[in-house]
Amino acid sequence: MYLFKKIEDLRQYVSSQKQEGKTVGLVPTMGALHDGHITLIKASIQSADITVCSIFVNPTQFNDINDFNKYPITVDKDVVLLEENGCDVLFLPSVQEMYPHGTALQQKYELGPIEHRLEGSYRPRHFQGVCQVVHRLLDIVQPDILLMGQKDYQQIKVIQKMISLLHLHVRLQMVGIVRAANGLALSSRNARLSDREKEAALILSRALQKIKEKIRPNVSVAILQEEAEKSIIRAGFEKVDYVSIADGDTLEPVDIWDGKKRLVALVAAWIDGVRLIDNTILSE
Ligand code: AMP
Repeated sequence: MYLFKKIEDLRQYVSSQKQEGKTVGLVPTMGALHDGHITLIKASIQSADITVCSIFVNPTQFNDINDFNKYPITVDKDVVLLEENGCDVLFLPSVQEMYPHGTALQQKYELGPIEHRLEGSYRPRHFQGVCQVVHRLLDIVQPDILLMGQKDYQQIKVIQKMISLLHLHVRLQMVGIVRAANGLALSSRNARLSDREKEAALILSRALQKIKEKIRPNVSVAILQEEAEKSIIRAGFEKVDYVSIADGDTLEPVDIWDGKKRLVALVAAWIDGVRLIDNTILSE
């Protein structure tokens, strides 16, 4: 595996590969890699000739400095995992390399209402920061395929919007959520949980599953959301930011399901100071 820290070196390598007619897949990450990330790498290897993984803890998408400071960094382990799993290139830039003119937004992304819903309402400016870093990475790598996880469902929808807004020539591929055997969605932030908290955190996937079992046309969505919130608090979470049953494309909240609309259920909740998110697609 090649490891590049400088944009110019990466660009040269990628353009030499493209000249040979090879296609490129990009998997952006913030490191502390787990099986969820590795599934994205494997999907990229399936879909493209060359797989580039980036590891960059992007300061501009954190609205909470504590979360940024506590973000786990395990680069040596990450390199081994990527090598073992056939990744071709690791891009490991510094903040200075990514943002030579400073971290202020160079442009505002007009994302519409989706920017301020759910994650957006709890993490102001988060999606502007996400667009800023993904746009920059797309510009540097010029991939044919961008692979992202359903785990961050709203992020995928926001990036889809950015791609169409800027007419970028890249195909966005969503990869399903990878879970531990007991159902807990894998996340780099799980490393901050004790075994007891990990056990309690199972309630997130269980509560989503219960919504999936119970949702029917004309059933009150509010009651399903409320039941889910109560079960999460009973399991030991200190706070639920949201349980939302929403339109699968716009993430607009739904009151009553017409039985036709594509729906997704999403949750964000806090356990011992760690914020976890999960979601499930309710209907295709
Ligand atoms: P992160 O390093 O948390 O920014 O995640 C990098 C990419 O991996 C994002 O596209 C995430 O959606 C994806 N990802 C994170 N956790 C999982 C998971 N459990 N299953 C699938 N994809 C994931």
